[in-house]
Amino acid sequence: MKVHNVELTISAVKPEQYPNNGFPEIALVGRSNVGKSSLINTLIDRRSYARTSGQPGKTQTLNFYKVEEKMYLVDVPGYGYAKVSKKEREKWGRMIETYLTQRPNLKGVISLIDARHEPTELDLQMLEFLHYYQLPVLAVGTKIDKVPRSKWNKVASNALRKTDFLNSDNYVLFSAVSKIGKDSVWDWIDQMIEK
Ligand code: GDP
Repeated sequence: MKVHNVELTISAVKPEQYPNNGFPEIALVGRSNVGKSSLINTLIDRRSYARTSGQPGKTQTLNFYKVEEKMYLVDVPGYGYAKVSKKEREKWGRMIETYLTQRPNLKGVISLIDARHEPTELDLQMLEFLHYYQLPVLAVGTKIDKVPRSKWNKVASNALRKTDFLNSDNYVLFSAVSKIGKDSVWDWIDQMIEK
């Protein structure tokens, strides 16, 4: 999709604040600093619309980006940031769980995993959670420009080996620098929102 119009409709912390126009939603989840803002900016062809970190773990809101008057990309605050208090983490957990498990508009979830490393315990927990709730998942291996091409197959097979529900149809290698993987991510989003 070539994106012309984007608008941050709302930063929500509770269901009453979610948009109510019925557009399909695709959520993006991943640990802090994994490259989530950069993926969103790449998808919407903007340099810095979604905030890129600097202050990882700061954004504790669900940010609904309306794209082309037809759908929302929902930026879910990153997990695994050490400096967040236990109380904050619990609050985060409740907000995310409510959104991911009770939102009829949610058509799929993009789960970001740093391609330079094996999926972490938290990455796997998130994937298992999404799978348990039968949410369609696309796993995206980020920052692949930092991995030599000769290792790309290995990165993918290591990630796929860790779960029994990921396969080459729902795993994409991505770089916000080279833009590789961008079209595959949009293809998947388009499929999900048309269902
Ligand atoms: P977020 O916290 O998940 O939103 O992560 P950001 O998008 O803010 O990215 C975290 C850091 O990783 C920033 O310094 C980005 O410039 C860098 N980064 C993000 N995506 C890529 C990528 O595809 N390639 C490279 N080389 N760096 C990236």
